Amino acid sequence: MMALVRMPKKDWYDILGAKPSDSLTELKRKYQKLVLLYHPDKQSADVPAGEVEERVQRFIEIDQAWKILGNEETKKEYDLQRREDDLTQEWPLDAQIYLEDMSWNNDEQCYTFLCRCGGKYTISKNETEEVSLVCCDTCSLIIEILR
Ligand SMILES: [Zn+2]
Repeated sequence: MMALVRMPKKDWYDILGAKPSDSLTELKRKYQKLVLLYHPDKQSADVPAGEVEERVQRFIEIDQAWKILGNEETKKEYDLQRREDDLTQEWPLDAQIYLEDMSWNNDEQCYTFLCRCGGKYTISKNETEEVSLVCCDTCSLIIEILR
């Protein structure tokens, strides 16, 4: 059984100091301002070496963010993905479980799995075809069934 840990993904809007509701013009203005600030050619000579590295890293991120958000197609794709991530983050996903790891209850023709709260996840045989998320019958946790 593997607990699901979601790595925080890079938020391109955050990197540009922008909001998803910003217009393309606004995004571009913010991008250009940051690029001027972090462009390797624009750094003064007395910046310590460690910070130079950091600024280059930042510049690369800003550039990457603009490559995605400055193009209508990739921006749309990213917005969609963002929305999906928001949705999954709302689910208190407890674990991913293989169907084989659940116990088969022959009387009730369903698979069950014990929740750490002491409650039970139940999925009937018919449901296993379409359903992949199962709620605990006691708490608000959810497991994902893998096949
Ligand atoms: Zn539970």
